[in-house]
Amino acid sequence: MTADTQVTDTTDAPGPAGGTLDAVGVSAWFGQRKVLEQVDIVMNSGEVTALIGPSGCGKSTFLRILNRMHELVPAATLAGSVLLDGEDVYGTALALTEVRRRIGMVFQKPNPFPAMSIADNVTAGLKLTGRRPADREALVEECLRRASLWDEVRGRLTAPAGGLSGGQQQRLCIARSLAVRPDVLLMDEPCSALDPTSTRRVEETIGELKEQVTIVIVTHNMQQAQRVSQRCAFFLAEEDSPGRVVEQGPTEQVFQHPEDPRTADYVNGRF
Ligand code: ADP
Ligand code: MG
Repeated sequence: MTADTQVTDTTDAPGPAGGTLDAVGVSAWFGQRKVLEQVDIVMNSGEVTALIGPSGCGKSTFLRILNRMHELVPAATLAGSVLLDGEDVYGTALALTEVRRRIGMVFQKPNPFPAMSIADNVTAGLKLTGRRPADREALVEECLRRASLWDEVRGRLTAPAGGLSGGQQQRLCIARSLAVRPDVLLMDEPCSALDPTSTRRVEETIGELKEQVTIVIVTHNMQQAQRVSQRCAFFLAEEDSPGRVVEQGPTEQVFQHPEDPRTADYVNGRF
């Protein structure tokens, strides 16, 4: 889409509460190897859903399936469906660019464009939407505020993003994700590369965002899962079996009164 055909977005206010994401019977393969088996999880708007479980049990694969990034891997196949507010994410009614706009992703390693300015990083994703904000400066400020970064960078918006600390870069990536007005934000171990102070800042940001954006977070940090999430799903891949959800429910229940002994062992650090 060229600049001429861009629509000016006059709705500069944050959107309403995020979308509900519903994974139904999701199985996944890499080549012949099955890595996920029949995963059913509803990720509600207004909530943070934490995905926990040992390495290799398919959490990142599941997260990528939710916004069709799974398709980028050669030989990756899929069964089941993912619904965003009832619409099939893999169906023809939703364009791929719309799926990626509505379901954003934040990765373990902060990945801003280092040579680009802080402000330009925030708006870097807007090309994808074909819309341009009525007031770009206001959008930059709003997104940086929502990502709890504004106070730290307001005096140097034209400085390169590469000069920020790791924790600041991660919040900048969150701000960039927010600029396209997503319904859902997927976060794959967003604090694993951060120090404890930065981790706290990101956790606070997640707590504030969840009223507007549905959040799904993969974390290996059991305290973090309990601090930030309202619902939790425990993934496990036993021996050569694909990853499955062993148990899910309200986070407090999964941690305080797990029904499955394997959940109890995992959340109490016994494997
Ligand atoms: P987790 O995030 O829980 O650590 P992953 O989703 O990364 O787990 O991986 C699940 C399984 O799928 C692992 O056995 C991993 O080796 C395999 N896998 C992940 N990505 C690929 C890929 N691109 N090609 C082949 N196998 C993969
Ligand atoms: Mg992973």
